[in-house]
Formats: sequence, structure tokens, C-alpha cells
Amino acid sequence: MSIAANIEEFQKELSPLGVTLVAVSKTKSVEEIQEAYDAGQRIFGENLVQELVEKYEKLPKDIQWHLIGHLQTNKVKYIAPFINMIESVDSLKLLKEINKHALKHDRIIDCLLQVYIASESTKFGLDHVELIELLESEEFASLKNVRIRGLMGIATNTENEKEIKEEFYELKTLFDGIKVSYFRNEETFDTLSMGMSSDYKIAIEQGSNLVRLGSVLFGKRIIKHYKA
Ligand SMILES: *Cc1c(COP(=O)(O)O)cnc(C)c1O
Repeated sequence: MSIAANIEEFQKELSPLGVTLVAVSKTKSVEEIQEAYDAGQRIFGENLVQELVEKYEKLPKDIQWHLIGHLQTNKVKYIAPFINMIESVDSLKLLKEINKHALKHDRIIDCLLQVYIASESTKFGLDHVELIELLESEEFASLKNVRIRGLMGIATNTENEKEIKEEFYELKTLFDGIKVSYFRNEETFDTLSMGMSSDYKIAIEQGSNLVRLGSVLFGKRIIKHYKA
């Protein structure tokens, strides 16, 4: 199926469920992204800053870009003028840097706190203790140019559906607890980003309202490195 047909099919499946579709376009060309855009897709996710900036410059300006990969503090400045959401915030240090650059551009940048839920040791993210420490810190309370919209997590890359289900259940439970404890009066704490091509169905069953889909929309990623 074509990219356009895939987009239409997934939009039809997800929007009645109230689930937002982020089309993960990493390694994909500007032409492929434009095809998805022409089919109505407006939210795209990228994991590398340089690739994201190059695509931002070439593509329509009403695209909402999400950064979904690990972000180094020294690269925040490149995306601060335009980024719509940073889903991969994994430290207070990074959040402070985002706040600083958002302030410079007179913006409020939406962020998700990435929580470590997988059993693999290679994934980025805050553990539960770090998450609570961040939320309770005085410095966090003073950051006015970032808005925490929710949590993001990546499940273990495994065939074991029970394990994936348990990890998503854990993140949903954490999301509900954090909402009641820290964001009770903030309606904008509303986003639980979990689920990729291989596990989005389980994620939605477990309460996800934002899925990050790449290969089911654009086909397998063959090339590893994007070329402009
Ligand atoms: C690449 C990526 C995705 C999409 O992966 P697919 O398996 O192609 O759907 C989702 N989330 C993150 C954080 C990614 O890096």
C-alpha cells in the first residue's frame, strides 16, 4: 500500500479512539513526508536534531514536529524556535536548557517526560525515583517556558506480549498517579505516548492516547542514515 493509503487507514482507525498519530519519518525523504502530508498527516516525529532541522526547513510550516529521540543539551538551540513537542525529556538539566531557549524565543515548549519502562539497559529515560525527584524539585517549579504534557515510554523490543503489556500497564498507572499528585489542576497534562508499529495495539488497550508509528506507514527503514 502507498504511504497515503496507510495514513488514511490509520487515521480512520485511530481518530475514533481519540488516539493521536505521530508519523515517525526518520530516515525517510522529504518527498515521502510530503506524500503523507498531502494525505492529511500533520504531526511528524524525528529522532535526530540535524535531520529534523533540515526537513523542517524544506517542508510546509504547518507541520507539527515532535522530537522523539535522545536530545543533547547543546542541540536544544537548533530546534527551540519551531519544535512542537519534545517527547524525550529525560533529565532536569535538559528541561532547564529547553526552558532557557524557549524563553529566548518567547515560546512555551510542550514536553513529555520519558520514563524508562523496558528491561533493556540501552533505553533512555527517567526511572520512577528520578521522575519524582524532578517533579518535586524547586527548580522544576520555577520553569515557566516548558509545559509538561504527559509521559512517554518505549517497551522492550520482544515478542513476549505479556511483558510489553505489563510495561505499558506500569506506565499508565504511573501516568494516572502523577496526574493526581502533581497536575491535578492542569488539564494540559493529558498525553500518554506509548506504542510503535509492533506494539501500538497493546499500547492503546493499556491506555495510550498517542502512538508513534514509522514502518507501518512508510515501510521498513532500509537506509540507516538520512541524506539531505
Ligand atoms: C523509530 C521510533 C519509533 C517508530 O518505530 P516503528 O517501529 O518504525 O514504528 C517510535 N518511537 C521512537 C522513540 C522511535 O525512535
